[in-house]
Amino acid sequence: MRSYTLIAPAKINLHLEIIGDRPDGYHELVMILQSIDLADEIYLQASDTDTIHVRCNHPEVPVDKSNIAYKAAALMATEFPTAYGKYGGVNITINKRIPVAAGLAGGSTNAAAVLVGIDLLWKLGLTQSELEELGAQLGSDVPFCIAGGTAIATGRGEQLSPLPSLDNIYIVLAKYRSLAISTPWAYKTYREQFGDTYLRDTDSLSARAAAIHSGPIVQAILHKDATEIAQKLHNDLERVVLPAYPQVLQLRETYASTGVLGTMMSGSGPSVFAICESQQQAEQVKLRIRETIPDEDLELFVTRMISHGIQVASSV
Ligand code: ATP
Repeated sequence: MRSYTLIAPAKINLHLEIIGDRPDGYHELVMILQSIDLADEIYLQASDTDTIHVRCNHPEVPVDKSNIAYKAAALMATEFPTAYGKYGGVNITINKRIPVAAGLAGGSTNAAAVLVGIDLLWKLGLTQSELEELGAQLGSDVPFCIAGGTAIATGRGEQLSPLPSLDNIYIVLAKYRSLAISTPWAYKTYREQFGDTYLRDTDSLSARAAAIHSGPIVQAILHKDATEIAQKLHNDLERVVLPAYPQVLQLRETYASTGVLGTMMSGSGPSVFAICESQQQAEQVKLRIRETIPDEDLELFVTRMISHGIQVASSV
C-alpha cells in the first residue's frame, strides 16, 4: 500500500486585528501568520477498504468523524469520487507534538497535511490555490497551513498574501497543558465588549485591511529585523483573554522580565510566545521561566520561525 509521511508545522500570529463582523457570523480579521518549527507528523496510507480511519497518540484528540483530519479526507472523497473509487480509503496516523487547543492551528495543519497527502496519494495534481480553496471549506487557518511561511491573512483568515519569509528567528513558546481556551468564546466575548468599535461599511473595512500592507509590522518583516518585529507584535484578543486568565497574564509578564525582544499571546491563546535574539537566549529564557514558574503543567518549547508549510518527509 502506498504511503506518505508529512510534516505539519504549527503557526503563531505576529498580528491579529479584529476589524468588523461578517454576514456569515465570523469576524473580519487582519492577521499576520507565521509558521514555526514545532510540527506534527502525519502518516497517510492507502487502505484496502473504502473507509477513512484516524489514529492519534494524544488522548484529547478525537479519532472519530469530528477530527478535522478525518473531515479533510471526507471532503476529498466527496470532491473527487472517481479517484476515491479507484484508490479507496485512507488510514491517517497523527503523531501530535503541537499542544492542543493552544491557538497554534494544530488541527488546521493536520487537515492541510491530509489535503496535500491525498492529492499525492490519488495523483490529482491540484494547484496550491485549489488546495487552499478546499482548505477554506474546513477552517479559516487551513489555507495558510498548506504553503505556510509568513503571510498576511484577511477575511476570515483565508485570503492570503505572502510576505518574504522569516527563518531562524528563535522563539520560546509556553502553554499550560491543562488550560484550553475556546476560540468561539474569545471572539464572542470580544464582540460583546468591543463590538461598538467595529467598522460597518465595506469601504472602511477594505481600507483597513489594505492598510496592513504598509503598516509598521509589515515594514519590520520586510527589514527581517527581529527587534523591530518583536516591538510591533499585536493581538486584539489579549484584551479579553488576559483579564479572564491570570495564568496567561503571568506568563506574558514573566517573559517580559527576562529581557526578551517581545512577547505576545498566539491566536485566541492560551499559548504565549517570546521572540529572542538568538537560540542561546531562547534556551536561557526557557530555563528562567521554568525557575520562576516551577509548575509541571507548563510546557515550554524553544523553536524558530520557518519558511514553509506542509512538507513530504518520505514516501513509500
Ligand atoms: P486554531 O489556532 O486553528 O484555532 P487551535 O490550535 O486553537 O486551533 P486545535 O489544536 O486545532 O486548536 O484544537 C481545537 C479542538 O479541535 C481540540 O479541542 C480538539 O478536540 C479538536 N480537534 C479535532 N481534530 C483535531 C486534530 N487533528 N488535532 C488537534 N485537535 C483536533
